[in-house]
Amino acid sequence: MGKVIAIASQKGGVGKTTTTVNLAASLAMLKQRTLVLDLDEQNAVGFGLGLSRQQMEHGLYDVFLGRKKLSEIIHSTMLPYLKTIPYGKGTLTDEFERFVRQKGSAPLLKKYVDALQKSCDFILIDCPPGMGELTIYALSAANAVLVPMQCEPLSLKTLTQILKIIRKVRRQINPDLVIEGLLMTMYDENYRIAREVCQQVWASFPEEVVFRNVIPRMEEFSSAFAVGRPIITQDPEAEVAKAYLHLAHEVIAKRKKELEDLAAGGGGDDEARTA
Ligand code: ADP
Ligand code: MG
Repeated sequence: MGKVIAIASQKGGVGKTTTTVNLAASLAMLKQRTLVLDLDEQNAVGFGLGLSRQQMEHGLYDVFLGRKKLSEIIHSTMLPYLKTIPYGKGTLTDEFERFVRQKGSAPLLKKYVDALQKSCDFILIDCPPGMGELTIYALSAANAVLVPMQCEPLSLKTLTQILKIIRKVRRQINPDLVIEGLLMTMYDENYRIAREVCQQVWASFPEEVVFRNVIPRMEEFSSAFAVGRPIITQDPEAEVAKAYLHLAHEVIAKRKKELEDLAAGGGGDDEARTA
């Protein structure tokens, strides 16, 4: 059974989509069967992975509404181990929200994810900004949540809020949800503030909860994304590509340990990740 990781944050622009696309590509390069689900109506994952507009026409949105089957909206990418499901063209109209609420899309998404998990090693879910309903569905269906944060003082405040929401989801919906890790993104070592925020995060949270790898800022990154290819397939020597590859190794190592703990019959020493 594959592991399901939601990439979520209250804030927009912190690197959720960039992390989803580049972590997924790195996992795939390491021969992990990886699937990316896009829960953001902007379909940015599809752009980042080079899907055509036509391929992004339909997606999860249509599956929620019963217009398409999951098997019809899974697309291959330039990497053999990487597949993706776009969000589709729908917007979150009141009608859609009512429908989703009535039908209970939290269990619906969980049902889809459970079905997809069987043929993957990892499923990454790119969440829209904020902690709206779709993000809560993702957290309900996931095994773990990865929280990207920019290295700036305000992020620390956001982090406290997001951890509160994760705790709430765990109490009310998904008791098994763990924190995959807090990931510091767009790190610029030339900025004193960025260095201080990093230090503060490392000092404030148990080490199991914060990724050792920090993703550096790379000015040309936005244009790389626009080309529709993960950075590792374009410029594997770039610092940011190496950082995402190291992150993928960390994620795989965590998974390996979880499976070993499970096989040994225990839950492991994971209290920190459920704090
Ligand atoms: P989110 O999904 O959280 O809204 P994005 O992943 O779309 O955030 O990133 C926001 C912006 O920051 C994008 O323009 C993206 O290209 C840019 N960005 C993300 N990561 C980096 C990085 N490491 N270096 C430079 N720019 C980055
Ligand atoms: Mg995004």
